Amino acid sequence: MTAVAPAYPGVMPAYDYRCRTCDALFEVRRGLHEYPDVPTSCPSGHLETTRVFTPVAVGGGAAAPAPAAAGGGCCGGGCCG
Ligand SMILES: [Zn+2]
Repeated sequence: MTAVAPAYPGVMPAYDYRCRTCDALFEVRRGLHEYPDVPTSCPSGHLETTRVFTPVAVGGGAAAPAPAAAGGGCCGGGCCG
């Protein structure tokens, strides 16, 4: 029951950042020993950057089933009595 994420040597996690100066989106790969929350400069050299949290798409495609349209409800038309 240990929630330890397996470390894959050689795999560099990529983080998305947005430049607050030129509004550029760029990706930075950082090692596991580096802190992703530390701001980095954008490709244009601006230092006002913020990290963008991209939602991880969970596989499955389990969409909520649409409720079946109950057609022909008769209790409103007085046919049940
Ligand atoms: Zn910039």
